[in-house]
Amino acid sequence: MTFKILVVDDEASLRGVLSDLLTGAGYSVETAESGEQALEKFRASGFHIVLTDIRMQKMSGIDLIRHIRVMRSETEVVVMTSNASIETAIEALRLGAYDYLMKPFDDLETVLVLIKRTVEKVRLVIENRTLLEDLQKKNEELEKLNRAIRELAIRDGLTGLYNYRYFEEMLRAEIARSARHKRSFCLLMIDVDHFKNYNDRHGHLMGDEILRGIGRILSDRSRRTDIVARYGGEEFVVVLPETPKEAAVRVAEELRLRIENFPFQKGEAQPLGKVTISVGLAQFPDDAADAHGLIERADQALYGAKAGGRNRACSYDASHTTPTHEEKP
Ligand code: GH3
Ligand code: MG
Ligand code: MG
Repeated sequence: MTFKILVVDDEASLRGVLSDLLTGAGYSVETAESGEQALEKFRASGFHIVLTDIRMQKMSGIDLIRHIRVMRSETEVVVMTSNASIETAIEALRLGAYDYLMKPFDDLETVLVLIKRTVEKVRLVIENRTLLEDLQKKNEELEKLNRAIRELAIRDGLTGLYNYRYFEEMLRAEIARSARHKRSFCLLMIDVDHFKNYNDRHGHLMGDEILRGIGRILSDRSRRTDIVARYGGEEFVVVLPETPKEAAVRVAEELRLRIENFPFQKGEAQPLGKVTISVGLAQFPDDAADAHGLIERADQALYGAKAGGRNRACSYDASHTTPTHEEKP
C-alpha cells in the first residue's frame, strides 16, 4: 500500500525539498501552497498524512487541522513551526495533530523518521479498522447461520410448520401468559381422516403431498399469533391465543371446510369422497389448566369427532363431546 502525503507550505523551496525527500522514501506526495489549496486537494482525494506549516496567509495550519479532523479521522497531521511559536504547536497537538517539527530542520533524517513513525501509526489504525470490519462481517454471517439453525430446530422437515417440541414450548408459554392475564385460549387437535387408506392406495410419497397441502392451508388461514404445528404423523395442532371457544369453533369449522373443498389429488377415492380432517377443540382454562390436560381434552374431543363420523369439528364437553355443527345427511 502506498501512503499518500500532502505537504503544505507557502515556501516553494521547502515544498520542493520535502517532496523530494518523501517521494524518495517511497511515498506518494502532493504539495499545496496554502491552506485553501490544501483543503481543496484533500477534499478531492484524501491523504493519510498532512504535513503542514502553521503560519500561512489566510487559512492557518491550525484551521486546516480543524477542517481535516471533521472530514477524515484516519488522517494524521504533522505540523511544522518555528522555534518562536511553540505555543501554536501545542495548540495543534491539542487539536489532534500527531506531532510537530521545528523549523529550520537540523537534518532531513529527523523529518523522515518522524514521518515514518506517523505512517506506521496510520497503517495500524487502518489495519485495525479492516480487522474490525472483517470481524463484524463474520459475526453477522454467524448470526445469520445461528438464526437458520434455530429456525431448522423448530420446524418440521416435511411441512415446514413448527415441530412438536416447539409447539409444546409455545403451549406452555401461552398457558403461563393466559393465566397471568386471566384470558382464555383454545387448542385445536387435527387428524387426517382415513389417511392410512390414502397411503395404502397411492403410496407414501403422495401421502406426504397431502400432508404438505394441509399444512399450507392451516398456516394460510392462521393469524400471525397462532401457532400451527405438526403434532406427529398425520396430526396437526393449532394454538389460538386470546380466542374463546365460540370464535375457535368458527376457525375449526373454516379449516375443516377449506380442506374438504380443496381438490387434493385422488381425494375422490377416499371413503368420504374427498380428503378431510377431524378436529378436536379444548379451551384453557375451562377444560384444563395445564398443557398435558389441555392436549388430552382436545384429543378426547377429536375422538368424538371421529366417532361421530369424521369430517367434523367437536369441542370438549365435560359430560360428552358435542359436534360443533349439524351432521350432514
Ligand atoms: P382415522 O380417520 O381414524 O384417523 O384413520 P387413519 O387411517 O387416518 O388413521 P391411522 O392412525 O390408522 O393411520 C394413520 C396413517 O398416517 C398411518 C401412517 O401410514 C400415516 N402417516 C403417518 N405419518 C405419515 C407421514 O409422514 N407421511 C405419510 N405419507 N403418511 C403418514
Ligand atoms: Mg392419527
Ligand atoms: Mg387419521
